[in-house]
Parts: sequence; C-alpha cells; structure tokens
Amino acid sequence: QFSQNKFYLQLKDVVSRHLNFSRFAHKGDFGRVLLVGGSYGSIGAIRMCAEASLRTGSGLAACLVPTCGVQVLQVGLPEVQVISSNSDRSLSLAYPKEGLDRYDAAGIGPGMGTTADAKEFLLDFIKTFKGPKVLDADAINILAQDKEMQEYLGEEDVLTPHVKEFERLVGGCQNHKQRLAKAREYSRQYGCVLVLKGAHTCISFPDGTQYFNSSGNKHMATGGAGDVLTGMITSFLGQGYGVKNAVLCGVYQHGLAGEIASEDKRRGTIASDIIKAIPKSYL
Ligand code: AMP
Ligand code: MG
Repeated sequence: QFSQNKFYLQLKDVVSRHLNFSRFAHKGDFGRVLLVGGSYGSIGAIRMCAEASLRTGSGLAACLVPTCGVQVLQVGLPEVQVISSNSDRSLSLAYPKEGLDRYDAAGIGPGMGTTADAKEFLLDFIKTFKGPKVLDADAINILAQDKEMQEYLGEEDVLTPHVKEFERLVGGCQNHKQRLAKAREYSRQYGCVLVLKGAHTCISFPDGTQYFNSSGNKHMATGGAGDVLTGMITSFLGQGYGVKNAVLCGVYQHGLAGEIASEDKRRGTIASDIIKAIPKSYL
C-alpha cells in the first residue's frame, strides 16, 4: 500500500488468495468456463483464451464461436468443447441459448469483431448469461459504441481494456494520471472491476481502491497477450475465487508467466509462450 486506497500488487498478495482443492476433487470443482468470441480470420484469439483457462486450472472449457471456427478449434485444441453460434463468419443471435447456466463464468470478446451481428449477439448474451464474466477486446469496442449496454454491467463483471480501448470507452485522456482517475470513476459508476492494461496494469474496484501490478515486462507487448489474460481471469472466476481474488491472481500471474516465458525468448516471446508458462506462475 503506498497511499490511502492505492496498493502495489505483489507475489505475497496472491499466494494467500489461492484456493485449495480436495484430493477427491472432480472437474466440476475446478469450474466450467465458456469463452466467447472469434470471427473469420480471428479464431486464434479465442483458442488462446481457452487454452489459457485450461492451463490456469479450469476443469472444463467450452468455446462459443461462429461456424467457421468449429473445426479450427476441434483440431487445434482437442480439450475444448465447441459450440457453434449457427452463423458462418461472425457470432449472431442464432446461438443456442439453453444450457448457458451450466457455465460458472464466461470470457467474451477476443477476435469477436464489431459487425452488426456481433453487436446484437453481445447485447443478448450479457442479458442472458447470469454468471460472472470478463469483457475484453471487441466486446469493449462494442460497449464503447453502444453505451446503453454498460447499464447491464454488474459487480461480478470485469472489463480488461488496453489504453486505446479504454479511451474509446471514456474519451481521450491528457495523461496517465487523468486516465487512472477516469478508470476509478468508471468502476464506481458502473459497479464493475476495470483492469486498465499496460506496464503496471491498474485494477480499479467499485469501492475506489486501485491495485498496480508489479509483474510483467515489455516482452509481453505482443499480439494475443491480452487474450491470455482474459482466459486466466475467467478461469479463476470459474474456480470460485470471487471477483476480487480472481482479478488479482489473474493479473499478477499473467505478468509472472510473461516474465518466465521471456527469460529465454526475450523479444521473440509470443502469446503461446506465455500460455505454456502459466503453470509455473503458481509459486
Ligand atoms: P493486449 O493489448 O490486449 O494484447 O494486452 C497486452 C497484455 O500484455 C496486457 O495484459 C498488458 O498488461 C501486457 N503488457 C503489454 N505491454 C507491457 C509492458 N510493457 N509491460 C508489462 N506488461 C505489458
Ligand atoms: Mg487485447
């Protein structure tokens, strides 16, 4: 803690938050998560997200994607169950709505696109899905265009914008100090958790507290790194961590996995390397 309601997030803050699971645990105990996103040419984003959830410990991961992503995922990541949205290149309202309550948490947005179909889908999905959820990437871009959707956000929801996505949401900021103030205000106003990503990612909670992450490095500035974070936070939510612990563990361990992955990869680090290092981030 370096001032009233500002905290520096370190390893010791994370280990004490980990849940222990029984010798007799079954996969349901580790949580069932649903990763939602992808569009023609961007199926990899949702694959990385799902793989990150599994490497974080989820008992089961399912992906809801447009039809063009079904085979890609089944072949590339056999551990996931794949649900088609019954639309070819983009998610749409035709997706199967029954059975969503089977999932303990959802992560939405990576690779999703911002077509009219994707927008309609998102509005319907956030009204239908009752569990905790992470909104990232194009889900945030859609929110920025259709501001009324923000009214559906709740205390178990997490937004994970990078700086550009955040400014699409709240308007341009003059400097980082103003951006941090707007992040705190956003979390208060909508009652959700806001994760402003970058070096020293800032996590704002509705009670006005902010945590600044100490882990991670510049080698994480690579395509897909954010999709990995979405999968990790979703996984912790699904494991029953509660939103605060899920976000703090997710953000810190994502940075640590990036540090571990980049030890030998240096500036050649790619998002898949970060995924492989996730298990080593449990210290
Ligand atoms: P995205 O822009 O959505 O792919 O997200 C990038 C991810 O990598 C976020 O979790 C950032 O916090 C992380 N990241 C990017 N650049 C840096 C950096 N210079 N130092 C630490 N983490 C970074
Ligand atoms: Mg991103």
